[in-house]
Amino acid sequence: MQHHPLLAQLNDKQREAVGAAERHMLVLAGAGSGKTRVLVHRIAWLIQAKGISPHSIMAVTFTNKAAAEMRGRIEQLLGSSVRAMWIGTFHGLAHRLLRAHYMDVGLPQNFQILDSDDQQRLIKRIMRSLNLDEKRWPPKQAQWFINGKKDEGLRPHHLDGFDFNERTFKEIYEAYQEACDRAGLVDFAELLLRAYELIRNNKHVREHYQRRFRHILVDEFQDTNAIQYGWIKLLSGVGQGHDETNHVTIVGDDDQSIYGWRGARVENIQQFLRDFLNVLTIRLEQNYRSTNNILTAANEVIANNQGRLGKELWTDGSAGEPIDLYAAFNEMDEARYIAGRIEQWHEQGNALQDVAILYRSNAQSRVLEEALLHARIPYRIYGGLRFFDRMEVKDALAYMRLVASRNDDAAFERVINTPTRGIGDRTLGIIREGSRERGLPLWEAAKQLVREKVLSGRAGNAVQAFLDLIDGLEDETSDYPLGRQVDTAIKKSGLMAMFQAEKGEKAETRVENLKELVNACDNFNTLDSVIEDEMTPLNAFLAHAALESGEEQADEHQDAVQLMTLHSAKGLEFPLVFMSGVEEGLFPSQQSLGESGRLEEERRLCYVGMTRAMQKLVISYAESRRIYGQEKHSTVSRFVGEMPPEMLHHVRLQSRTTHQSHALGRFHSGASHEAFEQTGYSLGQRVRHTKFGEGTVLNYEGTGPQSRIQVNFDDVGSKWLVVGYARLERC
Ligand code: ATP
Ligand code: MG
Repeated sequence: MQHHPLLAQLNDKQREAVGAAERHMLVLAGAGSGKTRVLVHRIAWLIQAKGISPHSIMAVTFTNKAAAEMRGRIEQLLGSSVRAMWIGTFHGLAHRLLRAHYMDVGLPQNFQILDSDDQQRLIKRIMRSLNLDEKRWPPKQAQWFINGKKDEGLRPHHLDGFDFNERTFKEIYEAYQEACDRAGLVDFAELLLRAYELIRNNKHVREHYQRRFRHILVDEFQDTNAIQYGWIKLLSGVGQGHDETNHVTIVGDDDQSIYGWRGARVENIQQFLRDFLNVLTIRLEQNYRSTNNILTAANEVIANNQGRLGKELWTDGSAGEPIDLYAAFNEMDEARYIAGRIEQWHEQGNALQDVAILYRSNAQSRVLEEALLHARIPYRIYGGLRFFDRMEVKDALAYMRLVASRNDDAAFERVINTPTRGIGDRTLGIIREGSRERGLPLWEAAKQLVREKVLSGRAGNAVQAFLDLIDGLEDETSDYPLGRQVDTAIKKSGLMAMFQAEKGEKAETRVENLKELVNACDNFNTLDSVIEDEMTPLNAFLAHAALESGEEQADEHQDAVQLMTLHSAKGLEFPLVFMSGVEEGLFPSQQSLGESGRLEEERRLCYVGMTRAMQKLVISYAESRRIYGQEKHSTVSRFVGEMPPEMLHHVRLQSRTTHQSHALGRFHSGASHEAFEQTGYSLGQRVRHTKFGEGTVLNYEGTGPQSRIQVNFDDVGSKWLVVGYARLERC
C-alpha cells in the first residue's frame, strides 16, 4: 500500500487516514499539519483505490475558492474529471438542494437569494411598517437576532417571547419572514435552515440523498453551527435506526475555531464522537508550513487557552528568522512601514502574491490601501467589497431579478425609481400599503392599484410604464444569451444612460462596471457553477452573484499583495505575512476584553493569523490610531507578550527623533548610527534614483550592502531600498 502513488507524499499518520477502511473518521490536528491535504488525497483514494463513484461523494469546504481548488487538486491526482462529485460551501450546497426540491420546501421555482445588505434594507422597511423606532430597536440588532435564531434552527413559533425585547424581535422576525416568503426571497441563514428542514421533513428526499452520499467529508469542521452539523447528521443517516450509515470524515482544529460569535460550535467535535460510533481518530503532529520560530511562538500563545483538546505540533524545518515586531507611531506610519517592507521583498525578486497583510477589522484596510497605492504596489482585497456588491451592479441585477421573479420585493424597491421616472415616496407608500393590506407582493399590488385607478394620472402612468418595461424585457430577451439579456436590460431601463450622463471619474467607473457585468455574463459558464440542470442561465447567474463571496476578483492574474481580515485567512498560507494592528483594544478587540470566552476566541484568531506564515512573520502595532472616527492610544497586544521574547526581533526606534523626522516618519534601526554612516548617506540628505527621481533620506535599517534605506521621493512617496542595489546619487 505504501507504494501507491496517492500515498507516497504523505507521512505515516496522514497515510493511515487516507488509506483507512471506509468508516467514520476525525482528523484533529493543528495548523499546517496537512489536514486539507489529507482530505484531498482521501477523496482521490476512495475513487481510485476503492472504486467509489465521484457521484457518491460530498465534500464541504469553507470558501468557494477552496472548493474549486480542491476539485482541481483531486482531478490532477486522478487525471480524470470528478464533476459528479458535490463539493462546495454549506451555503452553496444548501442552495443546490433547494433548487432541486423547491416544491418540497414551499419555495417558488425562481426564488432569489437575499444578501445581507438587502436583508437589512428589508428589515428596516418591515420595522417602519410596524412603527418601531430604529433608535430603540436598531435594525442591525434585529438582523443579528433573526440570523442567530435561524442558525440555531428556530422559527418564530419556537420563541416564547417572555421578555419584552425578545417579544419585539420575534414580531419583527415573523413579519420579515412573511415578507420573504411572499416575495420568494431566501437569506443566507434561511438557505441552511430550509435545506435542513427539507431533509428532516421529507422522507423520500432524505432517503434519496442518504442512498447517494456514501461519503461525506467536511473541512474546517470546528466552525460548523448547529444547523450545519444537524444537516450532516441527517444526511449520514446516523441515529436513525439503520444498521448501516454513510461514512463521515471531519477534519478540524479546535484551536482555530473563530466563528463562535456567529453561532459556530466547537463542541460539535465532541458531539460528533458521541453521535457517531466507531470513529477512527487521527492526530497529525508534524507541521509542514512554518519555520520553527513561527510555530513555537504560535504554540506558546495558544497554550494560554483553557480546555483545549490538546495537540502537539512540531516541524523538522529550520528555525528561520525571528518574528519582526514594529512599534509604529500611528496607523500611517505602520502602513508606510509595511509598504516599505513589501517593496524590499519585491526588489529582492519575490512575488507580491506571496505576501498577505492581515488585520482584525475591515476598517483598517483603508490606510493600508493608501500606503500601497502611494508606493504603487498592486494589491487585492480578499473578501472585501465584492464586484456584485457595487451599487450600479446591484441595480442592474435587481432588474434581472425582477425579470426572473416579479415577486422579488427587494428588487422592486430598488429599481422602481432608479433611474428616476417620477415615482415618488408617496406613490411608493401607497403601493407598500396596498401590498400589506392585500397580502400581495409589491408588483402585484402595484398592478391592481393601477387597474383600480387608486393610482392614476401621472403617478399611475409612471407605474404602468415601469410594469410594462419589466414585462417587455422578459418578452424580448428570454431567448437571448445571458450577456445580451443583461445588456438589453441595462440599456432599456435607462440605467446606462443615467450613469453616462453623470460626470466625473466615479460615474465612468460605474459605466465600466456595467460593461464588465455584461462581460461576466458572457463568460459565465453554467457548467462551472454548482446548480441543477433545470435552472435557467439567468437564475444560475443571479445565484452565483449572491453566493460568490468576493474571493474572485477581476484582476485575478495580476501579481498582487493580498489584504484580508484574519477571519478570511483561515486555511490559507503565504511565505510572508504581516499582522497589523496587534494592539490592546483592537486585537484583542475591545468587546472581548471583559469575557474570557471571547478573549480566548481572539487568541485563537491570533493563532490562525500567525500560522498562515511560512517563512517570515512581521507583527506591527500603532501607539496611536484613528479608527471608527476616533483617536485612540494603545499598547501592544497581550498576545505579543505571550510569545517567547527570544523569538521576537524589535525593529527599534531611534532615540534621536527630531521634530522633522516625526513629520516625515519614524527613524528606526537595529543598527548603530555609525554603521549607517558607512553606507555613505546621512539622514535628511537629498538623493536621486534613476527611476523614482529625487527624494530625502528618512530612515535606515541594517548594516553592509544588505542595509536598507528609506527615501521619501518627491514624486512617488516613501520607499525602502536596499543600499547595495539602489544606486542612489547624492544631489
Ligand atoms: P490549516 O489548519 O491552516 O487549514 P492544514 O492542516 O489544512 O492547515 P494543509 O494546508 O493541508 O494544512 O498543509 C499545509 C502545507 O503543508 C501545505 O503547503 C501542504 O502542501 C504541506 N504538506 C502537508 N503535508 C505534507 C507532506 N506530507 N509532505 C510535504 N508537504 C506537506
Ligand atoms: Mg486546511
